[in-house]
Amino acid sequence: MPMSPSRRLALITSTSLALLAGCGPSSSVSGRDGSTAQGIPSPPKVKVVASTNVYGDITERIGGAKVDVTSIISDPDQDPHSFEANTQNQLALSKANVVIENGGGYDDFIDRMLKSSSNSSAELINAVKVSGKTAPKGAELNEHVWYDFPTVSKVADRIAVALSKADPADTASFTTNAETFKGELAGLEAKEAVIKKAHQGEAIGITEPVPLYLTGASGLVNKTPEEFSEAIEEGDDVSPRVFQKTLKLYSDKQVKALVYNEQTSGAQTEKVKNAAEAAGIKIVPVTETLPKGKDYLSWMTANVDALATALDK
Ligand SMILES: [Zn+2]
Repeated sequence: MPMSPSRRLALITSTSLALLAGCGPSSSVSGRDGSTAQGIPSPPKVKVVASTNVYGDITERIGGAKVDVTSIISDPDQDPHSFEANTQNQLALSKANVVIENGGGYDDFIDRMLKSSSNSSAELINAVKVSGKTAPKGAELNEHVWYDFPTVSKVADRIAVALSKADPADTASFTTNAETFKGELAGLEAKEAVIKKAHQGEAIGITEPVPLYLTGASGLVNKTPEEFSEAIEEGDDVSPRVFQKTLKLYSDKQVKALVYNEQTSGAQTEKVKNAAEAAGIKIVPVTETLPKGKDYLSWMTANVDALATALDK
């Protein structure tokens, strides 16, 4: 049976109101004639693929119920430096509106998948590019930019913009959520400043470069031979000469703490950890991706607090 013109108008009005209000599936809106339109389907969620659950969690924080996020790496036992994507990842990527990668050589599997995907319309966010950071002269770029809060703040803005492009009706909520998130990041930067004030110039050791933006912003000086930490990052071993030099940092108590990457470890890092323990040097464990039960902010708060506690002792 054909719809009467007034009934059709009522439905159109209801639908537009529902869209404006950002209503969910249970919404019901009264039309001008008093009729009720039930069960208006909610607009589809923005599909986001993130290389790790770090960027996935930040996206959920900004997108709330309006996003459907797939994080390719979310297993704390997985070393993201040596990850290989599978067909399930490829499928998720082919449907994504927004793709977030770290960049800087960290998660090249995203670029490889995008190349072989027919999805050419996805908005790609590359955190290293957003950071504007480049390799220092004669050294490699530290690509672990999610430990750099000013960078994460910029990435949050970019995520809000990308989500708004895919779902313009929810722009206000994405922007507000990003601002709130950035406020919490500012709180973490304030904590780093407190550490810096008390411990500027103090020496620390690392096994792998993951915490270096955090320790640098906290005023600490990394004494680890770069040959050692770069090799660990690549999953390689180092020469006995470099290894002995690294162990000496601990046996000679040249550093105040060891910031230890639990997610990128092997026989040599275990020995470094043992040397630090034997010398009574505090160990601050860190990871590449979110530990179970933590979101980005609670994870980073725990990292900064653990560093402060280790140094204050
Ligand atoms: Zn790493």
